[in-house]
Amino acid sequence: MTYLCPICTQNDLSVVGKIAASHGRKADRIIHFLLCNHCGLQALAFFGESGEETAEQVGYIVDRSTWADLHLSWAGCPDPLEKSCQCPAHLKLGRFDPVGERSFPCRLR
Ligand SMILES: [Zn+2]
Ligand SMILES: [Zn+2]
Repeated sequence: MTYLCPICTQNDLSVVGKIAASHGRKADRIIHFLLCNHCGLQALAFFGESGEETAEQVGYIVDRSTWADLHLSWAGCPDPLEKSCQCPAHLKLGRFDPVGERSFPCRLR
């Protein structure tokens, strides 16, 4: 499954990881790691708890080092879809707030 990349406009933004995170008192959410195979754009997309992939979602372009750090942590998580997991990836992503990051419409093709 790929999304349309907001930078190079190729249909090459792929989901390279998913994690279910609890965000304090806010709703639980599923976070998708997105990586463009064409231009290398790194982004995150946020979904509600059901994780359903609707036709249009909001993606956030995140800083390369932040994304790489989060993705590396994710790779070390024993169970990314278990939101009660307390590993570094779950703790960091539970705290991560995309407000202020550049957003783009994340469209499924
Ligand atoms: Zn791209
Ligand atoms: Zn974990």
